[in-house]
Amino acid sequence: MTTDLYNHITTDPVSSFFSEDIHVDVLRLDQMHPVISGNKWFKLRYYLEAAKKENKKHIVTFGGAWSNHIIACAAACHAEGLLCTGIIRGEEPAVYSKTLQEAKAYGMHLRFVSREEYKEKIIPGTIYNDDYSIIPEGGYGSIGAEGAATILNYCNKNYTHYCCAVGTGTMIAGIINGSNNEIIIGIPVLKNYYHAEEDIQSLLNGPSKKWQLVHDYHFGGYAKYDKSLLLFMNEFYQHTAIPTDFVYTGKLLYAIKDLVKKKFFPSQSRLLIIHSGGLQGNASLPPGSLLF
Ligand SMILES: *Cc1c(COP(=O)(O)O)cnc(C)c1O
Repeated sequence: MTTDLYNHITTDPVSSFFSEDIHVDVLRLDQMHPVISGNKWFKLRYYLEAAKKENKKHIVTFGGAWSNHIIACAAACHAEGLLCTGIIRGEEPAVYSKTLQEAKAYGMHLRFVSREEYKEKIIPGTIYNDDYSIIPEGGYGSIGAEGAATILNYCNKNYTHYCCAVGTGTMIAGIINGSNNEIIIGIPVLKNYYHAEEDIQSLLNGPSKKWQLVHDYHFGGYAKYDKSLLLFMNEFYQHTAIPTDFVYTGKLLYAIKDLVKKKFFPSQSRLLIIHSGGLQGNASLPPGSLLF
């Protein structure tokens, strides 16, 4: 994988936005690339390595019209010289989303399937070459988690807590697997995601670690938002110059700000918030919603 991407990752101090008695840094995976979202790149790395080892030249994966995974997969396959097909949920739109346009520009073949077919993860029979390798939606699974664990290679190890957003739970599972004595706090972005803990547990490989999900910050569900979230994202940007996305990292930062206010973290805690990227998805918001 193109290694110079990792040189752009920094750890930015943002304590002044939170409170005086805890330390907060943001791990800027969003800086790796303007389009390719940070954690998806990490989750993909071992899937692609495995495909190459098995001499598979064609990757097939799944996603929606604004999927961070689809665009990351398209770009990664382009970089690796692999053929790539994205099976996209729903009918082919008259006008492609920005995400789909860019995925196509990276050479991804787009196949639109009905929501029912998508749910069943049916591979269209006309995908010509049966020598493909499938990457699950969102890079879910233990291979994705193994890649996500390597996120921790790009930060110091002097934190008491790691905080991250939770979609499929693959990234947090990797972070938990890769952690030592840190406490890991996850913020699910889906509503009523009752089996999140179970899904994450199934991807853990080591002895029991300390981790916890806080389910109160999904803002109504996946990709749902309200004015207060956008207002918060603008405020955070004005204070720190760090842009966030409304699906994952905006909700994560909002949650941490609120939890700090509620004294969830003991004083003298040292938090690392993982900015997992996803900024490209903000293009789906009405123009002018954000200052960045
Ligand atoms: C996909 C994604 C997540 C969630 O990762 P999971 O491994 O699915 O839990 C978090 N942040 C961003 C920006 C993402 O694109």
